[in-house]
Amino acid sequence: MKATINQSIHDVIISGAGPVGLFLACELALSKCSVLILEKAENPHSPLKQLPFGIRGLSAPTIEALYRRGLLAELEIHKRLKNPHTSSGQGPQRQAGHFAGIPFHEGNIDTTQWEYRLPGSPETSLISEMAELETILTRRAETLGVEIRRGFPVTDVGQTNDNVTVWSANESFQAKWLVGCDGSRSTVRKMGGFEFAGTEPEFTGYTTLADIKDPEKLRPGRNVTSKGMYMQSQPGYVLIQDFDGGAFHSSETAITREHIQEVLRRVSNTDVTINTLHTATSWTDRARQATRYRNGRILLAGDAAHIHSPLGGQGLNLGLGDAMNLGWKLAATIQNRASENLLDSYFAERHPIGAQVLDWSRAQVAIMRPAPHARALHAIFRDLINTRDGATYMAGRVWGIHMHYDLDGSHPLVGRSVPDFQFENGTKIGELMHDGRMILLDFEENAALEALANTYAGQIKYISGHAKDQLGLSAVLIRPDGILAWTFDGSADGAAHLTQILRQYWNVVVH
Ligand SMILES: Cc1cc2nc3c(=O)[nH]c(=O)nc-3n(C[C@H](O)[C@H](O)[C@H](O)COP(=O)(O)OP(=O)(O)OC[C@H]3O[C@@H](n4cnc5c(N)ncnc54)[C@H](O)[C@@H]3O)c2cc1C
Repeated sequence: MKATINQSIHDVIISGAGPVGLFLACELALSKCSVLILEKAENPHSPLKQLPFGIRGLSAPTIEALYRRGLLAELEIHKRLKNPHTSSGQGPQRQAGHFAGIPFHEGNIDTTQWEYRLPGSPETSLISEMAELETILTRRAETLGVEIRRGFPVTDVGQTNDNVTVWSANESFQAKWLVGCDGSRSTVRKMGGFEFAGTEPEFTGYTTLADIKDPEKLRPGRNVTSKGMYMQSQPGYVLIQDFDGGAFHSSETAITREHIQEVLRRVSNTDVTINTLHTATSWTDRARQATRYRNGRILLAGDAAHIHSPLGGQGLNLGLGDAMNLGWKLAATIQNRASENLLDSYFAERHPIGAQVLDWSRAQVAIMRPAPHARALHAIFRDLINTRDGATYMAGRVWGIHMHYDLDGSHPLVGRSVPDFQFENGTKIGELMHDGRMILLDFEENAALEALANTYAGQIKYISGHAKDQLGLSAVLIRPDGILAWTFDGSADGAAHLTQILRQYWNVVVH
């Protein structure tokens, strides 16, 4: 059959309308890029995206990203739900999260150690549902003019110096750039010439919804056993980890009632009986990461760029962080507002963050192994996590409080998320970031800074005003992704230093 060649050339084609592809499309469209998403599935709805299967924990960088684009208020489900991973206990004994199944508690977390988090900042963790998140992002993408074609699996990709061609069955599409956001088995990654390096799995994990004849035989909460782990967070909804070297998941065999019953009996050391298995899915702790995120005009983001176990719930957050980092850089490159060095900083900044998450997942697996050495380590970790510093460290890592990029600057805030400065009229800086532009925030109405901002008026927005707590700062430069690129304490020649910083970002000065 003859291939249909679509004549229109988009700025960007994104493969995959999962949360990362949708969020990236929104960021690009916000910067006036034309975006086409090709999505394999004809129907966006799936029981695996709905509760209880679709539950996802969001951490601080994701919550801030949604807040800074005016989307946080649209999330509804967390207002009605208790987090089954964290809801046990009350007050200070409320479970705030876990590491390898070991809980850390609200009352042990010393938030005064996070000296740059201002009171009234968005929350540090929330639960969400994949279906709700995708619905919100799809609505926003379509409002911003993104074209989404469902039932179009990307089957092959090619590129020249000037553009990319993407094939879906017998049709081809052209764009200046292609981003693979097509999940863990990414076709773009495979066809685009990327290496995917990492470690093989130690277990198969199962998420199941079943009618259990005798659920009282299962202990409540998360149970690390001599064979693995199981947790029944609500009647019939059971998570299991079976240290089989990932063999079952890799075999791609259908999951039957008999199989789940056998695994659950073995892992829980009970003779529990499953009457009916309604829904089940499996996953592993395979941990791999692309060794580069860009090959010419093809880029990767989200699970297409990195996979690891869902322990501690970090994959979605990591992927949305990729999208927030990449969107404005790719838009600036397409519009010749920045050199390709800026685009290459996507890999330089995001690959180390991904590597840390993979190691976080591996560390949990290492102490969950059903072996005496791991059990000994597990006991030591339990003691440490129950200390104030231990719980604070865990919360800081799990909630992404310590996430930072290695940028040029000596102040501890450079490379970190901007604190949510509040002006005297009550407005917060996060509320002024909906348009996705870089902001020069000048607390002291410094004339030299305002003049510099005017020369970069096409790239940056100048905002001046006193904040209730300025954290000892006189001015800051906030990137479109909410990261602080520069801080000024008022003591040196701020305009000269800021000029150097701005030159790292933009290659066009609009007079
Ligand atoms: C049990 C479980 C629990 C989890 N819990 C959490 C949690 O609490 N917190 C957290 O942060 N993360 C969690 N994760 C991880 C999280 O779900 C993923 O990291 C996240 O969904 C990745 O988003 P994505 O958009 O990159 O990929 P996906 O969500 O996989 O989306 C990829 C999209 O690409 C499409 N696609 C695939 N191939 C093609 C193709 N060839 N052409 C076109 N389209 C294609 C797919 O249909 C899909 O729509 C969990 C994962 C699991 C399995």
